[in-house]
Amino acid sequence: MYTLAIETSCDETSIAIVDDNRNVLSNIIATQIATHKEYGGVVPEIASRMHIEAINMTLDAALSEAKLTLKDIDFISVTQGPGLVGALLVGVSFAKALAVSNDIPIVAVNHMRGHIASNYITHKSLEPPYIALVLSGGHSYIMDVIDYNHLVKLGETRDDAAGEAYDKVARVLGIGYPGGAELEKLAKKGRPTIDFPRVYLEKDSYDFSFSGLKTAVINYINTASMKNEKIIKEDVACSFQDAVIDVIVEKSIRAARNRNRKIIAISGGVSNNRTIFEALKKAGEAYDIEILYPLAKFTSDNAAMIGEEGMIKFKHEGPSDIRFIADPNMGL
Ligand code: ZN
Repeated sequence: MYTLAIETSCDETSIAIVDDNRNVLSNIIATQIATHKEYGGVVPEIASRMHIEAINMTLDAALSEAKLTLKDIDFISVTQGPGLVGALLVGVSFAKALAVSNDIPIVAVNHMRGHIASNYITHKSLEPPYIALVLSGGHSYIMDVIDYNHLVKLGETRDDAAGEAYDKVARVLGIGYPGGAELEKLAKKGRPTIDFPRVYLEKDSYDFSFSGLKTAVINYINTASMKNEKIIKEDVACSFQDAVIDVIVEKSIRAARNRNRKIIAISGGVSNNRTIFEALKKAGEAYDIEILYPLAKFTSDNAAMIGEEGMIKFKHEGPSDIRFIADPNMGL
Protein backbone atom coordinates (compact mmCIF):
# COMPACT_ATOMS: atom_id res chain seq x y z
CA MET A 1 0.00 0.00 0.00
CA TYR A 2 1.31 3.46 -0.94
CA THR A 3 0.41 6.92 0.27
CA LEU A 4 1.39 10.13 -1.47
CA ALA A 5 1.94 12.76 1.23
CA ILE A 6 1.86 16.54 0.91
CA GLU A 7 3.34 18.99 3.42
CA THR A 8 3.11 22.80 3.06
CA SER A 9 2.58 24.04 6.63
CA CYS A 10 5.48 26.51 6.71
CA ASP A 11 8.41 27.17 4.38
CA GLU A 12 9.08 23.75 2.82
CA THR A 13 7.05 22.40 -0.09
CA SER A 14 7.38 18.66 0.29
CA ILE A 15 5.83 15.61 -1.37
CA ALA A 16 6.75 12.04 -0.45
CA ILE A 17 5.68 8.49 -1.15
CA VAL A 18 5.69 6.06 1.77
CA ASP A 19 4.62 2.41 1.90
CA ASP A 20 3.00 0.45 4.71
CA ASN A 21 6.34 -1.05 5.82
CA ARG A 22 7.81 2.31 6.90
CA ASN A 23 9.81 2.63 3.67
CA VAL A 24 10.24 6.05 2.11
CA LEU A 25 10.25 5.71 -1.70
CA SER A 26 10.75 9.42 -2.28
CA ASN A 27 10.79 12.56 -0.17
CA ILE A 28 11.20 15.72 -2.24
CA ILE A 29 11.65 19.00 -0.37
CA ALA A 30 11.66 22.38 -2.12
CA THR A 31 12.96 24.66 0.60
CA GLN A 32 12.36 28.41 0.77
CA ILE A 33 14.94 29.13 3.47
CA ALA A 34 17.20 31.20 1.18
CA THR A 35 14.30 33.53 0.32
CA HIS A 36 13.06 34.04 3.88
CA LYS A 37 16.62 34.51 5.16
CA GLU A 38 16.65 38.00 3.64
CA TYR A 39 13.80 38.95 5.99
CA GLY A 40 15.15 37.19 9.09
CA GLY A 41 12.09 34.93 9.33
CA VAL A 42 9.30 33.29 7.35
CA VAL A 43 7.08 35.78 5.47
CA PRO A 44 3.66 34.06 5.22
CA GLU A 45 2.58 35.72 1.95
CA ILE A 46 5.80 34.75 0.20
CA ALA A 47 5.59 31.22 1.62
CA SER A 48 2.10 30.67 0.14
CA ARG A 49 3.13 31.99 -3.27
CA MET A 50 6.26 29.85 -3.38
CA HIS A 51 4.28 26.72 -2.44
CA ILE A 52 2.00 27.35 -5.45
CA GLU A 53 5.02 27.78 -7.74
CA ALA A 54 6.78 24.64 -6.48
CA ILE A 55 4.03 22.13 -5.85
CA ASN A 56 3.53 20.70 -9.36
CA MET A 57 7.25 20.15 -9.90
CA THR A 58 7.52 18.58 -6.45
CA LEU A 59 4.73 16.13 -7.28
CA ASP A 60 6.37 15.11 -10.58
CA ALA A 61 9.73 14.62 -8.86
CA ALA A 62 8.22 12.53 -6.03
CA LEU A 63 6.40 10.20 -8.43
CA SER A 64 9.33 9.83 -10.78
CA GLU A 65 11.83 9.11 -7.98
CA ALA A 66 9.49 6.43 -6.58
CA LYS A 67 8.94 5.09 -10.14
CA LEU A 68 5.17 5.20 -9.59
CA THR A 69 2.19 6.95 -11.14
CA LEU A 70 -0.93 8.32 -9.45
CA LYS A 71 -2.68 5.05 -10.37
CA ASP A 72 -0.41 3.22 -7.88
CA ILE A 73 -1.35 5.51 -4.99
CA ASP A 74 -3.82 4.05 -2.50
CA PHE A 75 -4.54 7.31 -0.67
CA ILE A 76 -3.28 10.86 -0.25
CA SER A 77 -2.04 12.21 3.11
CA VAL A 78 -1.94 15.96 3.62
CA THR A 79 -1.02 18.28 6.49
CA GLN A 80 -4.21 19.85 7.86
CA GLY A 81 -2.46 21.92 10.57
CA PRO A 82 -1.01 23.51 12.62
CA GLY A 83 0.89 25.99 10.46
CA LEU A 84 0.52 29.19 8.42
CA VAL A 85 -3.04 29.31 7.12
CA GLY A 86 -2.19 30.44 3.58
CA ALA A 87 0.58 27.86 3.29
CA LEU A 88 -1.66 25.06 4.58
CA LEU A 89 -4.42 26.05 2.15
CA VAL A 90 -2.13 25.48 -0.83
CA GLY A 91 -1.39 21.90 0.22
CA VAL A 92 -4.95 21.07 1.29
CA SER A 93 -6.52 22.47 -1.92
CA PHE A 94 -3.93 20.72 -4.09
CA ALA A 95 -4.45 17.42 -2.25
CA LYS A 96 -8.23 17.62 -2.53
CA ALA A 97 -8.03 18.41 -6.25
CA LEU A 98 -5.72 15.42 -6.78
CA ALA A 99 -7.98 13.16 -4.72
CA VAL A 100 -11.20 14.14 -6.47
CA SER A 101 -9.84 14.16 -10.02
CA ASN A 102 -8.12 10.78 -9.61
CA ASP A 103 -10.71 9.20 -7.31
CA ILE A 104 -8.20 8.56 -4.50
CA PRO A 105 -9.15 8.66 -0.78
CA ILE A 106 -7.60 11.40 1.35
CA VAL A 107 -6.39 11.53 4.97
CA ALA A 108 -5.99 14.79 6.91
CA VAL A 109 -2.82 14.67 9.04
CA ASN A 110 -1.77 16.60 12.14
CA HIS A 111 1.68 18.06 11.44
CA MET A 112 2.92 17.56 15.02
CA ARG A 113 1.90 13.91 14.98
CA GLY A 114 3.87 13.74 11.75
CA HIS A 115 6.96 14.90 13.63
CA ILE A 116 6.41 12.10 16.17
CA ALA A 117 6.02 9.58 13.28
CA SER A 118 9.39 10.67 11.83
CA ASN A 119 10.96 8.28 14.35
CA TYR A 120 9.06 5.30 12.88
CA ILE A 121 10.66 5.79 9.45
CA THR A 122 14.07 6.14 11.09
CA HIS A 123 13.79 3.36 13.70
CA LYS A 124 11.81 0.66 11.93
CA SER A 125 11.38 -1.46 15.08
CA LEU A 126 10.15 1.40 17.29
CA GLU A 127 6.79 0.61 18.85
CA PRO A 128 4.70 2.27 21.54
CA PRO A 129 4.70 2.77 24.44
CA TYR A 130 7.36 5.48 24.73
CA ILE A 131 7.71 9.16 25.56
CA ALA A 132 7.73 11.55 22.59
CA LEU A 133 9.58 14.83 23.10
CA VAL A 134 8.60 17.17 20.26
CA LEU A 135 10.76 20.27 19.92
CA SER A 136 10.07 22.42 16.88
CA GLY A 137 10.15 26.06 15.86
CA GLY A 138 6.58 26.69 16.94
CA HIS A 139 5.75 23.94 19.45
CA SER A 140 7.18 21.94 22.36
CA TYR A 141 5.41 18.86 23.71
CA ILE A 142 6.03 15.94 26.03
CA MET A 143 3.65 13.14 25.03
CA ASP A 144 3.08 9.66 26.35
CA VAL A 145 2.61 7.53 23.22
CA ILE A 146 0.55 4.71 24.72
CA ASP A 147 -0.34 3.29 21.31
CA TYR A 148 -0.08 4.47 17.68
CA ASN A 149 -3.43 6.22 17.90
CA HIS A 150 -3.55 6.86 21.65
CA LEU A 151 -1.33 9.73 22.73
CA VAL A 152 -1.60 11.53 26.06
CA LYS A 153 -0.28 15.06 26.32
CA LEU A 154 1.77 15.44 29.51
CA GLY A 155 3.14 18.92 28.88
CA GLU A 156 3.51 21.68 26.32
CA THR A 157 4.94 25.15 26.02
CA ARG A 158 3.07 27.95 27.74
CA ASP A 159 4.76 30.65 25.68
CA ASP A 160 7.79 30.38 23.37
CA ALA A 161 8.66 26.99 21.90
CA ALA A 162 12.24 25.77 22.30
CA GLY A 163 13.02 26.43 18.62
CA GLU A 164 11.54 29.91 18.85
CA ALA A 165 13.75 30.75 21.86
CA TYR A 166 16.82 29.48 19.97
CA ASP A 167 15.95 31.59 16.90
CA LYS A 168 15.28 34.74 18.93
CA VAL A 169 18.46 34.45 21.00
CA ALA A 170 20.40 33.75 17.78
CA ARG A 171 18.95 36.93 16.30
CA VAL A 172 20.00 39.16 19.24
CA LEU A 173 23.45 37.58 19.08
CA GLY A 174 23.52 38.48 15.38
CA ILE A 175 24.22 34.97 14.13
CA GLY A 176 21.65 34.84 11.36
CA TYR A 177 18.60 32.80 10.45
CA PRO A 178 17.72 30.02 11.00
CA GLY A 179 19.77 30.42 14.12
CA GLY A 180 19.35 27.15 16.03
CA ALA A 181 22.21 25.20 14.43
CA GLU A 182 24.54 28.22 14.45
CA LEU A 183 23.79 28.85 18.11
CA GLU A 184 24.66 25.26 19.01
CA LYS A 185 27.98 25.59 17.15
CA LEU A 186 28.77 28.85 18.96
CA ALA A 187 27.83 27.32 22.33
CA LYS A 188 30.38 24.53 21.81
CA LYS A 189 33.16 27.14 21.90
CA GLY A 190 31.83 28.81 25.05
CA ARG A 191 31.62 28.21 28.79
CA PRO A 192 28.48 28.39 30.98
CA THR A 193 29.63 31.49 32.85
CA ILE A 194 26.24 33.25 33.07
CA ASP A 195 23.57 31.98 35.43
CA PHE A 196 20.40 32.32 33.33
CA PRO A 197 17.09 31.22 34.96
CA ARG A 198 15.80 27.66 34.74
CA VAL A 199 12.01 27.84 34.67
CA TYR A 200 10.58 24.58 36.01
CA LEU A 201 7.07 25.97 36.77
CA GLU A 202 5.03 23.97 39.33
CA LYS A 203 6.73 20.97 40.95
CA ASP A 204 4.86 18.28 39.00
CA SER A 205 4.45 20.22 35.75
CA TYR A 206 5.70 18.91 32.42
CA ASP A 207 4.98 22.26 30.75
CA PHE A 208 7.71 24.46 29.34
CA SER A 209 8.20 28.22 29.52
CA PHE A 210 11.16 29.62 27.59
CA SER A 211 9.99 33.22 27.28
CA GLY A 212 11.52 34.31 30.63
CA LEU A 213 14.86 32.79 29.71
CA LYS A 214 14.81 34.49 26.31
CA THR A 215 14.06 37.86 28.01
CA ALA A 216 16.87 37.27 30.53
CA VAL A 217 19.34 36.72 27.69
CA ILE A 218 18.15 39.85 25.85
CA ASN A 219 18.36 41.91 29.08
CA TYR A 220 21.86 40.61 29.73
CA ILE A 221 23.01 41.67 26.25
CA ASN A 222 21.30 45.07 26.45
CA THR A 223 22.69 45.85 29.92
CA ALA A 224 26.19 44.90 28.83
CA SER A 225 26.03 47.06 25.72
CA MET A 226 24.71 50.06 27.75
CA LYS A 227 27.68 49.72 30.07
CA ASN A 228 29.98 49.28 27.07
CA GLU A 229 31.02 45.87 28.38
CA LYS A 230 32.24 43.27 25.95
CA ILE A 231 29.91 40.33 25.45
CA ILE A 232 31.44 36.91 24.92
CA LYS A 233 28.88 35.53 22.46
CA GLU A 234 30.13 31.97 22.87
CA ASP A 235 29.56 32.12 26.64
CA VAL A 236 26.08 33.64 26.23
CA ALA A 237 25.13 30.90 23.75
CA CYS A 238 26.55 28.17 25.99
CA SER A 239 24.85 29.52 29.15
CA PHE A 240 21.50 29.91 27.33
CA GLN A 241 21.66 26.41 25.89
CA ASP A 242 22.58 24.92 29.28
CA ALA A 243 19.50 26.54 30.82
CA VAL A 244 17.24 25.14 28.06
CA ILE A 245 18.76 21.67 28.31
CA ASP A 246 18.56 21.43 32.12
CA VAL A 247 14.79 21.99 31.95
CA ILE A 248 14.21 19.67 28.98
CA VAL A 249 16.24 16.86 30.54
CA GLU A 250 14.61 17.12 33.99
CA LYS A 251 11.07 17.07 32.58
CA SER A 252 11.59 14.36 29.94
CA ILE A 253 13.41 11.96 32.26
CA ARG A 254 10.83 12.55 35.01
CA ALA A 255 8.04 11.84 32.49
CA ALA A 256 9.67 8.58 31.38
CA ARG A 257 10.24 7.44 34.97
CA ASN A 258 6.75 8.36 36.21
CA ARG A 259 5.07 6.73 33.21
CA ASN A 260 7.43 3.77 33.34
CA ARG A 261 8.73 4.19 29.77
CA LYS A 262 12.16 3.02 28.60
CA ILE A 263 12.40 5.11 25.43
CA ILE A 264 12.31 8.86 24.80
CA ALA A 265 12.02 9.68 21.08
CA ILE A 266 12.89 13.30 20.24
CA SER A 267 11.49 14.90 17.08
CA GLY A 268 11.02 18.29 15.42
CA GLY A 269 13.66 20.64 14.01
CA VAL A 270 15.41 21.03 17.38
CA SER A 271 16.03 17.25 17.54
CA ASN A 272 18.93 17.94 15.17
CA ASN A 273 20.67 19.49 18.18
CA ARG A 274 23.22 16.87 19.28
CA THR A 275 24.01 18.70 22.53
CA ILE A 276 20.43 18.17 23.74
CA PHE A 277 20.60 14.51 22.66
CA GLU A 278 23.89 13.90 24.47
CA ALA A 279 22.58 15.50 27.68
CA LEU A 280 19.42 13.36 27.55
CA LYS A 281 21.41 10.25 26.80
CA LYS A 282 23.70 10.84 29.76
CA ALA A 283 20.78 11.48 32.11
CA GLY A 284 18.84 8.49 30.75
CA GLU A 285 21.66 6.00 31.31
CA ALA A 286 21.11 5.94 35.07
CA TYR A 287 17.53 4.73 34.54
CA ASP A 288 18.07 2.51 31.50
CA ILE A 289 16.19 4.95 29.28
CA GLU A 290 17.14 4.93 25.61
CA ILE A 291 17.05 8.17 23.61
CA LEU A 292 16.13 8.11 19.90
CA TYR A 293 16.11 10.85 17.28
CA PRO A 294 15.15 10.86 13.59
CA LEU A 295 17.57 10.94 10.67
CA ALA A 296 18.50 14.55 9.89
CA LYS A 297 16.46 14.55 6.63
CA PHE A 298 13.31 13.75 8.64
CA THR A 299 13.80 16.32 11.43
CA SER A 300 12.81 19.54 9.68
CA ASP A 301 9.45 19.68 7.89
CA ASN A 302 9.09 16.92 5.29
CA ALA A 303 6.26 14.96 3.70
CA ALA A 304 7.66 11.50 4.51
CA MET A 305 6.71 11.94 8.18
CA ILE A 306 3.23 13.11 7.09
CA GLY A 307 2.93 9.96 4.96
CA GLU A 308 3.94 7.74 7.88
CA GLU A 309 1.40 9.35 10.19
CA GLY A 310 -1.18 9.22 7.37
CA MET A 311 -0.53 5.48 7.07
CA ILE A 312 -1.14 4.99 10.81
CA LYS A 313 -4.35 7.05 10.69
CA PHE A 314 -5.65 5.40 7.51
CA LYS A 315 -5.11 1.90 8.91
CA HIS A 316 -6.94 2.86 12.06
CA GLU A 317 -9.83 5.05 10.94
CA GLY A 318 -9.86 4.93 7.15
CA PRO A 319 -10.09 8.01 4.94
CA SER A 320 -11.13 11.49 6.13
CA ASP A 321 -14.30 13.26 5.04
CA ILE A 322 -13.08 15.46 2.16
CA ARG A 323 -14.91 18.48 3.61
CA PHE A 324 -12.15 18.98 6.25
CA ILE A 325 -10.54 22.41 6.27
CA ALA A 326 -7.00 23.65 6.96
CA ASP A 327 -6.61 24.29 10.69
CA PRO A 328 -3.74 26.70 11.48
CA ASN A 329 -4.17 26.25 15.27
CA MET A 330 -4.70 22.50 15.34
CA GLY A 331 -3.73 21.07 18.75
CA LEU A 332 -2.24 17.69 19.51
ZN1 ZN B 1 7.23 21.17 11.83
